This record gives sequence, C-alpha cells and structure tokens, in this order.
Amino acid sequence: MIEMPEAVTLARQMDQTLTGKTIARFGRGSQTHKFLWLSRPDEEYETVQPGLTVTGASHFGRSIYLRLDGHMLWWSDAGGKLLYHPPGEKLPEKYHLGWEFSDGSFLTYALQMWGAVKLLDAGEFGERPNDETGIQPLSLEFTFERFDKMLEAYPEKTSKGIKGFLVATGYVTPDCINGLGNAILQDILFHARLDPRRKISAIRPHERRRLFEAINTTILKAVELGGRYDETDLFGRPGRYARLMDSKTAGSPCPVCHAPIEKISYLGGACYLCPECQA
Ligand SMILES: [Zn+2]
Repeated sequence: MIEMPEAVTLARQMDQTLTGKTIARFGRGSQTHKFLWLSRPDEEYETVQPGLTVTGASHFGRSIYLRLDGHMLWWSDAGGKLLYHPPGEKLPEKYHLGWEFSDGSFLTYALQMWGAVKLLDAGEFGERPNDETGIQPLSLEFTFERFDKMLEAYPEKTSKGIKGFLVATGYVTPDCINGLGNAILQDILFHARLDPRRKISAIRPHERRRLFEAINTTILKAVELGGRYDETDLFGRPGRYARLMDSKTAGSPCPVCHAPIEKISYLGGACYLCPECQA
C-alpha cells in the first residue's frame, strides 16, 4: 500500500512532471480489478477529464491529490503503482487506469490489493477533500501533547493493541494518524520497543514519548530515502528504505540483541518483531 513516504515521493514527482499537461483521454487499462473503486460511473470519468490541465499535485498523509483545473483526482487509501511514461514509451502490459496527455505522454495506475481513485468537483474540496481527516506525522499539528490526547481518545485503548490505532483501520476521525500502514509500522514499533499487541492503556508515559519520536524519525528517514524498497516511484525506481522488520528479515538476528526476528499474525496482517527488544 502507498504509505506516507511513498505518497510524499509520488506527489512531488507528479507535481514536477505532470503540471501543465492537458489530459487528452482517460480510460480503463488492460485489466479490471474488483477492489478498485471510482467515485462516479466510468462515462463521467471519460467525459469530464479530457481537456483539463494538471495544475499541481500534493499529498496529505497517505493520500495523493492531482489537481485538474477546478477538479481533483484523489488516491485515497490506495495500493499499487503510479507510473509516468514519456511520449513513445511502451505502456506496461498490466494496468487498470490510464491517462493520455496531449503531448503523447501517459500516466498509468496498476492497482495492488485495493484502492480508490475519486474524481471530485470544485466545491467538494479545499486544500484537501472535506472528508479527509486525521493528522499526519511530521506536521506542526502533530505534537507530543496532541499525540498523547489522541491515544487517550482512542475508543479501543483498553481492548486493542497499539497497531490498530497507528494504522487507523476502521477508525477515521480528527484524532487518527493519517500516513502509516502495516509496512512502516513494523520499524516504528521496533524503534519504540513496543509489541504491536501492547494495549494503549498499558503504555507508560516515557514509552509514549519514545513511540512519538519513533513515528517521526522513521517516517522522515523513509521520506528522505524516497520510500520503501518494495514500492516504486513515478519512474518505476524502487525506494531506498529497507525495513529492519520485514518478511525478508524474519528469522534473521535482531540488529540490536541478535534474537531471531519473529513473524506473527495480528489485526489483519503479518507483524515482524523482536521478541526480546519489544514488549
Ligand atoms: Zn532485539
């Protein structure tokens, strides 16, 4: 899935590469996918977009916005590859949505897992879509005091582990964190020395501080390295951030204490952790 480090990278590249280009045609690609959601019928996507010029791209948390002359395309909670193709370049064999620009260049989107690509009219968004909520790491709003209050406001703080709160699955409110997913989460919890199953009510004040720092430092590092190694940028290049806690490192020694890294299944996905360092 696209998490904040990849959203930052893709939005920056889309802003630099696509701004000023005019959409000539939009259509479905070579494949269909039952977990790809559009916000309107296909015909509206096909008729509204041609003639619109890209005026910029930005991100918020793990969302990507492409602005089009008073309209907006919004990749919301999406997985997969967004790829730019200069004029004349062969398109990938498999993709789900394609935009052709008037200069002959293309943008393709190949979905993985699931994702929504919503087309909004002016009035449905300001700086970002109105129903976008939450706070993103590294932002001025994301202070430790606010983070502490968010933990206290989490309705399942005594029953669910910290993982549920951090990835905000099924919990989208002004008090959720927008930007994390099940991938970067693994390293955040490793640096915070917390087990993903630890109940929020049992996390002590100094551990909350350490978790807050781990969120910011881990995201910042992954942003600086252009996203995770198993995701690609707009030009198909992999990110340079390799996770410490990952399917590839499961069973290998923990970089701190050398205990074997464990894999567990928890809250709808695999977690990788050090049984000695994380509690
Ligand atoms: Zn360890």
